[in-house]
Amino acid sequence: MMKLQQKLAILADAAKYDASCASSGSNNKNSKNGKGVGSTSSGMGICHSYTPDGRCISLLKILLTNFCIYECSYCINRASSPVERARFTVDEVVNLTIDFYKRNYIEGLFLSSGIIQSSDYTMEQMVSVARELRKTHDFRGYIHLKTIPDASPELLRMAGLYADRLSINVELPSKQSLALYAPEKNPATIKKSMSVLRDHIDESKESRKKSKIIATSATQPMKRHKKTSKFIYSPAGQSTQMIVGADQSSDAKILTLSNNLYNKYQMRRVYYSAFSPIPHSAQQLPAQSPPLIREHRLYQADWLLRFYGFGVNEITASSTVTNNEGQGGMLDLDIDPKLAWALRHLEFFPVNVNTATREMLLRVPGIGAIGANKIIKSRRFKRLRVSDIAKCGLSIKKIEPFIEAADANPACRLLEDENLKQYFIKKESAQMALF
Ligand code: SF4
Repeated sequence: MMKLQQKLAILADAAKYDASCASSGSNNKNSKNGKGVGSTSSGMGICHSYTPDGRCISLLKILLTNFCIYECSYCINRASSPVERARFTVDEVVNLTIDFYKRNYIEGLFLSSGIIQSSDYTMEQMVSVARELRKTHDFRGYIHLKTIPDASPELLRMAGLYADRLSINVELPSKQSLALYAPEKNPATIKKSMSVLRDHIDESKESRKKSKIIATSATQPMKRHKKTSKFIYSPAGQSTQMIVGADQSSDAKILTLSNNLYNKYQMRRVYYSAFSPIPHSAQQLPAQSPPLIREHRLYQADWLLRFYGFGVNEITASSTVTNNEGQGGMLDLDIDPKLAWALRHLEFFPVNVNTATREMLLRVPGIGAIGANKIIKSRRFKRLRVSDIAKCGLSIKKIEPFIEAADANPACRLLEDENLKQYFIKKESAQMALF
């Protein structure tokens, strides 16, 4: 019989391919009143990320089992893979979580699984883990369940009653790739399940809103109404993950899909995971990972879509960068996508920091949301000079060529330089060399 320690080694290692485990956006739960075990704070990042006070926090990130009846060719746990297999019982995962939490190793659980027997059977086991933790142990730490897409809607509903976040992997950017590399997975089922989660999440938000209104109403007894009207479902929303570089999908295709997922299913996050070649992998898969910087650039572009008002077309349409098959629509790996956009659209620059709209300030490479707000606040009191921009806590070196201010800005002349891109690449490498 395999020892628990051995299972843990296998099933924690098998879970390392999943990138989608940040914990931001959950609601607050704690055990300060002496009740329950653990705590979750909103806004925290988990899986080796840092809290605003500098603490590194982590999740117990494991698979329930790495046995799997499916044959996704990019996955180390596919049925035909000759890896060592292990399987936890529900009680083992529950006890490990509580034990690790009490020893202060973790602040929550990220649980995924290979598919055993059937999707419903597997999902039932995962739901049981979350239910045991919440109901039997009154565990108030963070729980993220990786949901099995073709599990029954009833199980999907139950999962969200106990988990802080649910996720369903979209896996690959195109239907064709999914059919080729993960033939048992059905894109229509994945989307249908995402819709089920979105509907419950919406219902939960609505219910919490109503509950607040009732609770603040002076005419009704607050507690009674709070209890009867609140439906809490996956408060940290849903997320998904896409494998990048296993197929030939361009960055434009990937970002278009992400954009649809954000709009249609209100995803909290789309995670991009660079494909890593696995032993004994299918022949049609690449022998090498894509450069890690590609993953990084996709995250930067994703940020532009969500917070900077950029459209997918603006980020990728006029890009002349191609992949190794000569296919266009790729992000420039040398510079970040916002700078790349600015260099393709010099007609919009320099931007006047004293008169530009917030939207236009956000288009300036090096000015983020906080920086734009600070500029707008400062310019209410005086006309800003270039040196005032530095006082807003912004790195002036990157911004300088793209702005005009109340005083003369000789750096604007750089916009006429044919080697402007090289100038920024050199700057970036000099900065990297400092670390
Ligand atoms: S369903 Fe596919 S991706 Fe998930 S564990 Fe099984 S083989 Fe791997």
